[in-house]
Formats: sequence, structure tokens, C-alpha cells
Amino acid sequence: MADFGSTELDAFRAEARAWLEANLPASLRGHPEKVTEAMNGGAKPTGDVELWRQRMGEKGWGVPTWPKQYGGGGLTPAEARVLYEEMARIGAANPIGGMGVIMFGPTLLEYGSEAQILEHIPSIARGEVRWCQGYSEPGSGSDLASLQTRAEDKGDHWLINGQKIWTSGAQYADMCFCLVRTDPKARKHEGISMLMIPMHQPGVEARPIRLINDSSPFCETFFTDAKAPKENLVGPLNGGWTVGKRLLQHERSGISGAGGGSARPSMAGGPLNEMATRYVGVDEDGRVADADLRRRLTDHLMEAQAFALTGRRLALEDRSNRGPTAASSILKNVGSKVRSDSAELALEIMGHQGVGWGGDDFTADEIAIVRTWLGGKAGTIAGGSYEVQNNIISKRILGLPEPPQANAGATGGGQHA
Ligand SMILES: Cc1cc2nc3c(=O)[nH]c(=O)nc-3n(C[C@H](O)[C@H](O)[C@H](O)COP(=O)(O)OP(=O)(O)OC[C@H]3O[C@@H](n4cnc5c(N)ncnc54)[C@H](O)[C@@H]3O)c2cc1C
Repeated sequence: MADFGSTELDAFRAEARAWLEANLPASLRGHPEKVTEAMNGGAKPTGDVELWRQRMGEKGWGVPTWPKQYGGGGLTPAEARVLYEEMARIGAANPIGGMGVIMFGPTLLEYGSEAQILEHIPSIARGEVRWCQGYSEPGSGSDLASLQTRAEDKGDHWLINGQKIWTSGAQYADMCFCLVRTDPKARKHEGISMLMIPMHQPGVEARPIRLINDSSPFCETFFTDAKAPKENLVGPLNGGWTVGKRLLQHERSGISGAGGGSARPSMAGGPLNEMATRYVGVDEDGRVADADLRRRLTDHLMEAQAFALTGRRLALEDRSNRGPTAASSILKNVGSKVRSDSAELALEIMGHQGVGWGGDDFTADEIAIVRTWLGGKAGTIAGGSYEVQNNIISKRILGLPEPPQANAGATGGGQHA
């Protein structure tokens, strides 16, 4: 699609605004949290959220830059940015998301056959089928290439046996994109394939794991003589490592929040600077009363703004929609640090009110912030740990040599991580 000048973008903005005004259910206007809560962890939406999902799905705007012929919006990155701005203006959240949208869809568009794309992409674009990620196993996290879950070729189907862990949303998922060992005799990176496994079958069991913040976002997932159709292999047989690593770049880019986030750090209690004036008070010049907090808050606001603007610049520069690169490891590390710094500062700003878990002494916002702070600890681990991203940055971006004894058995590219 040709580059758009400001006139064309203005016209698109008017179109997007009018469509959102007409189609966003009134009960959701200005309440993006109602949409995110209804979809939490991959749950199926109902009521107005479901109506909103159907409308966005038909329009293709849940995945605005995906090709139109597969159910996407066919928008340029610049148009997508305008759409997101208009959604923020009216207070609308995207009801179509999850791992199908962030990770698997873009990977299938790149590595899938035309038949696979036609079968799976439109249902992801409409938010109808929920996907989970079967990568990590007990003992195979950072050293992902050591994974043991087997898939045997049984002629007309694959037979899968093994255990995955930390499988986010597996209890809700319809399908799993899964890394499996298809050649146990090959070197570890070379005997892996990516398989699409239906979750609703007797051989699949997902057991939710309860976390410190009282939620169960992920599961242990057991495959016991589970089956997948032969045509569900994505990419070449035993060539799944390349496909799997590409998917991780999409995952890290998605986790980072780069490009979609606000430049002003905000928690349930509102923007951090407004929270600070409310909880800590102001001096005679109207500034946050605590000088040390004020300095650290200013540093944080600048860092968050620089990160948000970098994410936007990268999205707009990527005119050919090539998607993320190894730089996603940088974005992931910076994004997860910015978010955890926001939560740390919010807790500090709230003082005694920042220790609430429940009860009448704390507001719902205060409790939500404490839970966000606890849950946010996982951000530096999910999608590959902070240290492992630094290894990837050092090897793939800076071109530094690997330390001689580093992570015996796993190469820099051998990490999920
Ligand atoms: C919220 C959340 C959601 C997740 N969702 C999913 C999911 O849906 N599907 C899925 O498959 N997985 C998922 N994971 C798992 C995640 O990918 C792994 O936790 C991650 O890759 C780390 O693996 P591990 O937990 O086995 O830690 P380990 O690999 O055991 O690492 C332990 C520690 O050692 C460090 N370390 C390991 N190797 C090196 C090295 N070479 N150099 C330096 N330091 C190293 C790590 O940084 C870490 O601090 C999720 C994790 C979280 C926290």
C-alpha cells in the first residue's frame, strides 16, 4: 500500500472515529478494563464484550495490519497507529488478542502453507480460537532446545507424549502451538518440529498453577497419547527450531509493550505523577513534596517516554511489516524494567496503603496496584529471562563472543529464553 500523507491519514482518522462511535457498545466506552478483565488469561468473553469482539472481528481491526484476504484489516502501520489513537480517545480496548494474535498468527503467516493460513488465520483474526504456547518443560526453560516431549509419526497422525509447564492460558485454549521432538537421534536443535495440537481431546490435561498474586495464569500441561493431524506440522520436519525462535521474537516484542503503550506511566490509581501529588502532597511551588521521590519519578517518566517513543518509531519505520528482529530482546528487557519500576514507584508513593491485599482499609485501586506489582515480577522471566535476553543482545546484536563455559549444552540461539 502506498505511503499516506497527512490528508489521507486525516480521512482515515475520520473513518475510524465514526466507525468506533457507531460500533463500540456504550457500556464499554471509557472502560477498557471491562474488556481486559473479561478476556483475562484467555477466558471467553460474554455480553457486550462478546458483541464488541464480533464487530471488531468482522471489520478485521483486531489485527489491523494483517492482510485483508485472511481476515485482517489490511492497514498500514501509520493507519494502525491512528486507529489505536482513536480507540484510546474513545476508551476502547482491543477485544481480540492473546497468543494467537501476538505470536502464532504472525509466525504462521511467515512459515505456514497457504492451506494452514487459510484454515487458522481468519479464526485468530476474529478472536474465535484461543491458542497456548507449549514450549517450556520441567528442566527445559532457558535451555529450551533440550525439550523432551515426543511426537511420533503414526502414518496418518502424530502421537504426542510428554509434559509442558508454565503453559499460559492452557486451561482455556482450543489449540496449542507446541515444540516437540521428532528426531531423538539428531543433535538437539535439529530434531525439533513445531506442531499445532488440538487441546480438547482425552490425551491432553491442563492443571492450573496458583501464584502469589492469587491468580492462575498458567498450567502444567500433560500429553498422554495425544493426537494431531499430519498436516498440523508448521514449517519443515525437524526444522522447528528456526520457526520457534522467530515466534519468540514476536513474543518478546509483544511482551515489551513497545509501540502500543502510553508514554505516561499509569497504574490503576491513575498517572504516577498525579498519584504522587495526591498521596505525598505538594510543596509551596506545587511540586511533589518529597524531593528525592520527585527526582526518581522524573527519571522514570523520561525513561518511560523514551521507551514508548522508541517503540512507536520502530513500528512506523517498519513500513514493509517485516516484524520484530533480535532487537525485540532489548525492547523486552527495557519494557519489563519500565513496568516493574512503575509498580515499585506506585507502591512507594502509596506508603502504608501500598501493602493492601484486601479488606476495607484499602481502595480497589490500591489492591489492584499491589497485585500488579506482585504479578509483574514474572515479566522479566516470561518469554525468556532478563539474563538470557542480555546473552542474545550480546551475541546477536553486539557480536560479542560467547564465554567459553556459558550454559554448557545451549548456544546463545539455543535459549528460549
Ligand atoms: C508469567 C509467565 C508465563 C509463561 N508462559 C509460558 C507459556 O505460555 N509457555 C511456555 O512454554 N513457557 C512459558 N513461561 C516459561 C518461561 O519461558 C520460562 O520460565 C523462562 O524461559 C525461564 O525458564 P525457567 O523458568 O526454566 O528458568 P531457568 O532456565 O531454570 O533459569 C533460572 C535462572 O537462571 C538464569 N539462566 C539460565 N540460563 C542462563 C544463561 N545461559 N546465562 C545467564 N543466566 C541464565 C535465568 O536467567 C534465571 O534467572 C512463562 C513464564 C512466566 C513467568
